[in-house]
Amino acid sequence: MNEKALKYERMREEMVKKQIETRGINDPRVISAMLKVPRHLFVSDALSDQSYGDFPLPIGEQQTISQPYIVAEMTQALNLNEEDRVLEIGTGSGYQAAVLAEIAFRVYTIERIYPLYSKARSLFDRLHYHNIVMKYSDGSIGWESESPFDAIIVTAGSPDIPKTLVSQLAIGGRMVIPVGNQHSQDLIKLYRDERGIHKTNLGGCRFVRLVGEHGWREE
Ligand code: SAM
Repeated sequence: MNEKALKYERMREEMVKKQIETRGINDPRVISAMLKVPRHLFVSDALSDQSYGDFPLPIGEQQTISQPYIVAEMTQALNLNEEDRVLEIGTGSGYQAAVLAEIAFRVYTIERIYPLYSKARSLFDRLHYHNIVMKYSDGSIGWESESPFDAIIVTAGSPDIPKTLVSQLAIGGRMVIPVGNQHSQDLIKLYRDERGIHKTNLGGCRFVRLVGEHGWREE
């Protein structure tokens, strides 16, 4: 490993120790994915040295890569195993999808902004994430033809829980979605079983808007 890669590996270890484990993330699959994915490659070169900090960062197009802890928290809430098929709405930088792809069988991810879609696509190729399938589209309507999914993660804030997405969740499936107004949301976890949908509030969060047919209207 070259000097630069070693430096970032140390920063990842520090990130996991100080920001992730101390806040109660204890799923070994999540910890090992967070230790592995090279987060510095998912931001612009100018921001690589800040990429392991305890905050979100801009990725262009007025969008952000989420804070490492929120990525770990949402991933842990999905309780993934290696056979799961996961749908992500909001590819953004591609970092969350890469973390999911380290654990799950296949990740389906949708992005509505073309330059972000295209950049993430090249990066997945470069990093050999062959189990990530992408779509350039409005993800608020989900991905019907590939449903049902074992897990669904929405990484943009929605005014409510889109019924279409819930209908694409398998029985036994888990979903996490930030729900609230345009400034702050609650992170809601849903579990679907034969009896219906069970919801838990995991606490406050702040995401950019889910824009689309079942999200916010474009301004
Ligand atoms: N998961 C991303 C990552 O790891 O970098 C962070 C996502 S960023 C907070 C939210 C993303 O959701 C933005 O890239 C935005 O363009 C996208 N988005 C918003 N509404 C969407 C929609 N209806 N369909 C697909 N993507 C959407």
